[in-house]
Amino acid sequence: METARMIQTMAEGMSDELTSLRRSIHARPETGWLEMRTSAIIAKRLLDLGYEVLTGEEAVCPEARMGVPDDETLRSHAAAVLAQEGTPVEALTEAMQKGLTGVVGILRCGEGPVVALRFDIDALGMVERGDHDHRPAREGFSSRNPGMMHACGHDGHVAIGLGTAEVLMGIRENLHGTVKLIFQPAEEGARGARAVTAAGHLDDVDYFLGSHVAPTDSLDDGDVTAGTWGSLATTKLDVTMSGLAAHAGGYPEKGKNALLAAASAVLSLHAIPRHSDGQSRVNVGILHAGTGRNVIPDQAVMQVEVRGETTEINCYMAEQARQICNGAAMMQGCECTIAVVGEAESQHSDEALIQRVVDTVRRDMPDLTLSSEQNARNWGSEDISVMMNRVQSHGGQATYMRFMTPMAGAQHTVGFDFDEKVLPMGVRVFSTMVAELLKGDAQ
Ligand SMILES: [Zn+2]
Repeated sequence: METARMIQTMAEGMSDELTSLRRSIHARPETGWLEMRTSAIIAKRLLDLGYEVLTGEEAVCPEARMGVPDDETLRSHAAAVLAQEGTPVEALTEAMQKGLTGVVGILRCGEGPVVALRFDIDALGMVERGDHDHRPAREGFSSRNPGMMHACGHDGHVAIGLGTAEVLMGIRENLHGTVKLIFQPAEEGARGARAVTAAGHLDDVDYFLGSHVAPTDSLDDGDVTAGTWGSLATTKLDVTMSGLAAHAGGYPEKGKNALLAAASAVLSLHAIPRHSDGQSRVNVGILHAGTGRNVIPDQAVMQVEVRGETTEINCYMAEQARQICNGAAMMQGCECTIAVVGEAESQHSDEALIQRVVDTVRRDMPDLTLSSEQNARNWGSEDISVMMNRVQSHGGQATYMRFMTPMAGAQHTVGFDFDEKVLPMGVRVFSTMVAELLKGDAQ
């Protein structure tokens, strides 16, 4: 209880600091693999606090990254970041500037279990609302990066992560084991977790905790939901149909129509038979094809995603999708290339760790309320699943919590904002859980 009180005092005392950190991250949102400034800020802070800090290839496995922007995008973003006021250039490594973003901070406190906490750090490709009804605009911290916005709350996750880092360093005498703070890039589009996992960071983890800020007006009442389950496994596919251009009036028979191949594929994709074992989804979100009215289209590109209630159902959907795209290409004599640009698995939290969170909140944070549903259903997809499954595959325990807070606008919309009182609460819950899991002999 002593430690819990210390944590509460520290977390509540850093409330203003957390808000201003969140706002500085909010003003400079960076989408997946472009979190260069964000990663530099995180790395610098962790180094200043005294953490062992891993960045670049030590943080993420380069080959396991998915959906990496092209070289020109990486170069121009790096140049912009270098020129921005407030970028800690001494912590902005060459590797970060090449898209090896993400940071892992390690705190070793002797013998004991390994606890890993995950904070996702990326923004969305959206244009933030600029009118005065939107608080970030009104109070001067809305996005200054064109076409990018923190509309999911990951700016808050960064602040919670760094606040937790500070608290844990402050109570390290009371910890017995190892803490890993994983600041994960490219969660949106499910592109980053595999690269962190492939770098081996989850292989020795005994307890793994993640969280997401969530709206209080959802079904989940209370401040904290101890666990969630059921987020959908998903595969994101970029499909390119390549054909042959020809004069549509003069020699239509000489063309190979990529647009027609893509159009047949779209209809067949939406007609994949449902799976008897559970829910599935398919969506073709983007289709671009053709170059002119009187030209047989020689190129078509599609952005496709499939999902499944289980990893197996998702695999079935992805395999059907591949077959359909290849078959539709063949009908028109076109070539089809398919790139996997994002992937998540299905996910569940461990009952034992959920119960540990419930007990710890009740005992050490009695002023916080727990959701009536301790293990809530997740919809959508989350690549934290890849990390959780890795931890669970070798006998570790994992949970993915929710921290509730009032929100303006829904997540992933241009008017999104949240009540920053959730920041010290998040720091407190994570820090108290680490103290509980690493309390040593008293365990
Ligand atoms: Zn999110």
